[in-house]
Amino acid sequence: MKTAVSRIAGRRTDLFVHGAWRKPSAGRYFASYDPSAGAPWYEAADGGEADVDAAVGAAAQALRDAAWNGITPTRRGDLMRRLAGLIDDNKEHLAQLETRDNGKIIAETRAQTGYLSDYFNYFAGMADKVHGEVLPINKTGMLNFTVREPVGVVGVIVPWNSPLSILATALAPCLAVGNTVVAKPSEHTPASALAMAELCMEAGFPAGVFNVVTGFGESAGQALTRHPGVAKIAFTGGTDTGRKVASNAAANLIPCALELGGKSPHVIFDDADPERAVNGVVAGVFAAAGQTCVAGSRCFVQESVYDRIVERVAARAREVRIGHPFDESVQLGPLALRAQLEKVERYVQYGLDEGATLAAGGERPAIDGNGWYFRPTVFAGARNDMKIARDEIFGPVVCMISFGDEADLIAQANDSVYGLAAGVWTRDIDRALRFARAVDAGTVWVNTYRSASFVSPAGGFKWSGYGKHNGFEAIREFTRVKSVVIDHSGLGRDAFVIQLK
Ligand code: NAD
Repeated sequence: MKTAVSRIAGRRTDLFVHGAWRKPSAGRYFASYDPSAGAPWYEAADGGEADVDAAVGAAAQALRDAAWNGITPTRRGDLMRRLAGLIDDNKEHLAQLETRDNGKIIAETRAQTGYLSDYFNYFAGMADKVHGEVLPINKTGMLNFTVREPVGVVGVIVPWNSPLSILATALAPCLAVGNTVVAKPSEHTPASALAMAELCMEAGFPAGVFNVVTGFGESAGQALTRHPGVAKIAFTGGTDTGRKVASNAAANLIPCALELGGKSPHVIFDDADPERAVNGVVAGVFAAAGQTCVAGSRCFVQESVYDRIVERVAARAREVRIGHPFDESVQLGPLALRAQLEKVERYVQYGLDEGATLAAGGERPAIDGNGWYFRPTVFAGARNDMKIARDEIFGPVVCMISFGDEADLIAQANDSVYGLAAGVWTRDIDRALRFARAVDAGTVWVNTYRSASFVSPAGGFKWSGYGKHNGFEAIREFTRVKSVVIDHSGLGRDAFVIQLK
């Protein structure tokens, strides 16, 4: 794989358009940083409008080409299985690339890249199981059937926190149903999308089926959302950016799927198994240094057990092993961006100013070098109306908030602009189901947290966006339904008259 860590360190990567490397039209490159060193480690091509135009043109051409639209769904599935095999063969390379580019610990990126082949195999299996219906039309001598078609060229815009996994959530279903894709990875983590493009070519996908334009949001990203040749946008990122993306898509009258921010409630009732619940809360918010959209960053604990649980969460937070992301024993690595580290520090100060107290963390750890590390931070005495509980911090910070009864819990949990995910720990199944029904969240976990699966549809409500990934919902997301009506009566009836019958 050309984009393996050793091959690109200190060098430049180009754009990937129509199955070949392409220099950026403006000739510019930008630095991608290694968060564990706080230093640049390679340069990526700064793609602009002309490059996006070339990539969309290549994707549109591939869509018209029999090499792609003329192959059977079963053959598409075969190509995807071949890709899944190549991903598996290269999973260690891919994990190292992600860890170097975004600082996520190697144990976690290995788990993510180990899971990717299952993801592609799952959607490969779906490729020849997507079908329309024959409908009992209310007209004699007529046949009405539907077909599910690819939507066309899909623009996939990806954030920096889990670049490869998030790309896969759109790419796998898109390929399964015969779309073509132009991906715009984050300017902070462009390497793994390029590696994926290489693997797609090696698997035998025709040129132009998958293209990658690296570059910045305001230039390459915006150009993709405005391009008239794009049929759908699949965007994952911040809520403010999501609004801009949706507004550009609306101007072109195209749909988009938006996977945006979150401030997920993670609940511990007084009857929960404290050990498992505390583990769940700690893993649910500190994994990936808190840089996950579903981070359980508002932890609601029932009053009677609040002090005890806060103490245990804080003790566990203090035990978390922080260090270099390539060290296999490490549990928490650096934040992916310097700006993210500074944001976390600002929010810690807001929390203190608002009267919450630090039960753990709140500062950078003493680690050699210039890496962007921050200690797992637990705010005790937090309230749901505090800024730290209202805004997405996207860092290793949890707000411990107390609640009285279920009504109080639901009122507080739903008092958020976001609605991405929620978790609840209780031994009372009725209580768990009442919570699951009442909470405004696209995914609800009971006695577990962050157990994502390609089978399980995921996506947010409210300001967390709309549209679903995973499962058959993803196939619906990336297909359009066409209705075909045939008069087989042989009566040569006038269509206008028939409609009136
Ligand atoms: P971001 O919104 O800054 O950037 C996301 C992507 O959009 C990047 O590729 C960026 O270059 C591009 N972009 C920026 N401005 C653009 C514009 N005007 N037009 C088109 N594209 C533009 O987000 P981020 O900081 O990279 O990622 C963190 C955010 O992503 C968090 O809010 C997090 O919650 C969210 N996220 C959501 C999910 C989910 O599934 N709901 C998953 C992961 C991350």
